[in-house]
Order: sequence, then structure tokens, then C-alpha cells
Amino acid sequence: MKKVLIVGGGLSGIGAAIALSKSGLDFELHEKANQVGGKVASEYVEGFTLDRGFQVYFSSYTYEFPSGLGLEKLNWGSFKNGAMLCYDGSCEPIDKSMPLVSALSPAFGIKDKLLVLKLTLQIKSLLAKNLKSKSPLSMREFLQTYGFSDLFITRFAEPFWGGITLDRDLKESSNKLLRAWSYLSSGKAVIPAGGMGVIPATLSKVIPPDRIHLNSQVVAIKTTGNGFEATFTDEKTNLYSHVLAPTNWSYSNSEQSETDQDVNYKSSTAVWFAADQLPIKEPYLILNSNPNPVVNTLAPMSLAQPSYSPKGQHLACASLLGLNEIPYSDIESLALADLQTMYPTFDFSNWRVLRIDRIKYAQVEETGLSTADTHNPNGYIRIGEQVSGSGINHAFLNGYQAGSQL
Ligand SMILES: Cc1cc2nc3c(=O)[nH]c(=O)nc-3n(C[C@H](O)[C@H](O)[C@H](O)COP(=O)(O)OP(=O)(O)OC[C@H]3O[C@@H](n4cnc5c(N)ncnc54)[C@H](O)[C@@H]3O)c2cc1C
Repeated sequence: MKKVLIVGGGLSGIGAAIALSKSGLDFELHEKANQVGGKVASEYVEGFTLDRGFQVYFSSYTYEFPSGLGLEKLNWGSFKNGAMLCYDGSCEPIDKSMPLVSALSPAFGIKDKLLVLKLTLQIKSLLAKNLKSKSPLSMREFLQTYGFSDLFITRFAEPFWGGITLDRDLKESSNKLLRAWSYLSSGKAVIPAGGMGVIPATLSKVIPPDRIHLNSQVVAIKTTGNGFEATFTDEKTNLYSHVLAPTNWSYSNSEQSETDQDVNYKSSTAVWFAADQLPIKEPYLILNSNPNPVVNTLAPMSLAQPSYSPKGQHLACASLLGLNEIPYSDIESLALADLQTMYPTFDFSNWRVLRIDRIKYAQVEETGLSTADTHNPNGYIRIGEQVSGSGINHAFLNGYQAGSQL
């Protein structure tokens, strides 16, 4: 008889549990935290909604997810399809829905603008071709080969795609660039009322509650003659025919530590500001296109989703790439000083920090995804971002597919 242990209730574990709920197989999901969601979580501070780092859901993920999971019923707010580019002391929008404004923008030349159009029109075929390539170009190589100018790369690509991959050097695979562009060409970046944590909370409602064990860390897994014996924090043990786990075992067993990992992670820092007013009126993601920035992007959360802040106040999230060498105590002042260079005449004096997230293990480096144990014939199956690549959709679908195949 099959009995499956799912280690962890991140998006991948939730995906696996939903698939197993559908197929009727016996399973248990054990999550060491007091809630499901893993990296996708929200906290409520003084009436503000703070996610775990700046994260968005792309509305086009919906086409990939199975239907009937309840996500379509959430109250989504969206960022505008475009971005505000800040350089040399001023900011201006590049916006797909306002072709004239974008055409006239002096941020980069007409050739780059036509190439953006061409990229958008060719995106599906380019992505399909790129995914087949054994050694796809890096993002930077791809943009250069496609003909984009250095100005476009510095002013748009570095803060925009660098923000998505947490790497302004654009060393990641061009697959990631094309995938993100494909999602944005056919949808929007959205956030739900209640915060990103509502996504795993909604998805997990499809799973019978008695299958989810919170505050239950799996502390050991041993192979037995015909399966696995798992030990939990309360020292209870149980037998399973299969294990679906988001990490290799030794890593999963403890707090994340570098020596235990078989993939490389990139880090990020998010500074959540309560604000009396914002420097823009529309929900554009603001890109810092200046060289050597502290802040990479500024997201006007409460413009995209008004429920993120109390009435009459605003919430903005400044994202910094890496953990930097900036001491924790200097982050606020350095971030504000950098924002002031982006908006020299704006009054930031009433902005105050609600929380700073320093996320060491934020996103996996896609070039080194784990292949270990992915389809272990003995029944230990790796799921999650370490095999699928970072992304709410990738992690969820990877778990869902693994669960469906049992
Ligand atoms: C700052 C940041 C920004 C991001 N931006 C985006 C974005 O805009 N859009 C997007 O789509 N994706 C984004 N991502 C990526 C996305 O959030 C992740 O790729 C995805 O949530 C990973 O899910 P997972 O299930 O693979 O892993 P995790 O979320 O890490 O889940 C693993 C779970 O396993 C549990 N666990 C581990 N070991 C044990 C054990 N021994 N016993 C019990 N439980 C255990 C952990 O507590 C955790 O809940 C971002 C991530 C970060 C950090």
C-alpha cells in the first residue's frame, strides 16, 4: 500500500498534496513552521501587509495551474504593465499601454523600442527554441546578440530582469528573461488583498485539513526494507512508501546552512516603508537605472493593492540585491539617500521603516539546479525550487506533477 510523506508545506509541498488529494492516495504533509507557504508569507504590522520580500504572482500563471483551486476568486490588484525608469535625477514611464509616451521617451533609442516590440511578438517561439538549447546564452549575451544597446541594458534590463533574478550582472540563463517577458506579455504582475500569503492559504484549503501537520519537523529519514521510516520533532516515527521532499535530506533536516546545500542561492533585502505619500500616482514598479545603486527597485505596494496599507497611508517596498556589505543599522539611511537621488525633490522625511527582510536563501541559481534524487527509484523524490527553479508556479507545478505521477 502506498503511503506518502510530504516534507514541507511550501508551494511545492502544497502542489504535491493537492495532486495526492485528487488521486485519493494516503499521504501526510509535515511542515516545521506554524503555517504553510514557506517562502510565500505575509505578516500584518500596524495595519500594513508585509510579504516575505517583494514578491508578485504573474496573472498568466493561472493558465498553468489546474483550475478550481480558488485563486481566481481572490481580490487581485495589479502593477501597471511597464515601469518607471529613474536615472540622472528624473523618472519617466515606459508603458506598453501608452505606446506614444514610450515611443517619445528619451530613456533609450528607437532601435531598442522596436526590438522590444519584436521580442514581444516573437516571445513564444524564442522561448520554445531557447528551452531546447543545451547551453542557452546568459541574459546579457542574449540581449546583446538580439541587438539591444548598452543604454537599454543599463537603464532597463539591469534593474528590471536583475530584480527578477536578483542579479544585476544578468548572468542567469536567458530562459529566465524570456519566461518573465512571456508572462508579462500575456498578463500582469499582481498581488492579492491580504498579501501573498493568501495564495498558499487558499491553495491549501483544497487539502483535507487532517493531512496537514504544522509545527512538525521531520528530523530523520531512514530507508527500510520496503520504504522509509521518518522521525518527527515529537520523536514519533512512521513508515512511508514514498517521500516527496523539497531539499536533499541533510539540508532539509536542519536550518538552512551553506554546507548542506547542493544548489547556490542568491540573496536579497527588502525594506518596507510606511509613507505619508509616494513619489508616483500610478502603480509602476520604479527601477533605479543609476549606476551602482543601493536600491534596485521601489514597489508602490498600496497603489497596486490599496488593502496593503491603512486608509490615508501608503506602503512601499525597496528591494536591494544581495545582502550587501551594508550593516543592518545603515540600511534605512542608505536606502533613503538612494531614493532621494532617484527623486531629488520628493520629501521622504515622513517615511519610516516597518520591517527589513534580509533573505539569504532567496532564489536559486538556475544554472546549477539540483538533479540529485529527483527520480529516485526507491521512492525518495525531490520537489521544489531546488529542482524546478525559483517561482511560485515552478515550485507548485513541480510538486503537483510529482504527486500526480505516484
Ligand atoms: C525575496 C523573494 C522574491 C521572490 N519573488 C518571486 C516572485 O515575484 N514571483 C514568483 O513566482 N516567485 C518568487 N520567489 C520564489 C518563490 O517564492 C519560491 O521559489 C517558492 O515559493 C519556493 O517554494 P518551495 O516549496 O520550493 O520552497 P519553500 O518555500 O522554501 O518551502 C519549503 C518548506 O519546507 C519546510 N521544511 C523544510 N525542511 C523541513 C523539515 N525537515 N520538516 C518539515 N518542514 C520542512 C520549510 O519550512 C518550508 O515551508 C521569490 C522568493 C523570494 C525569497
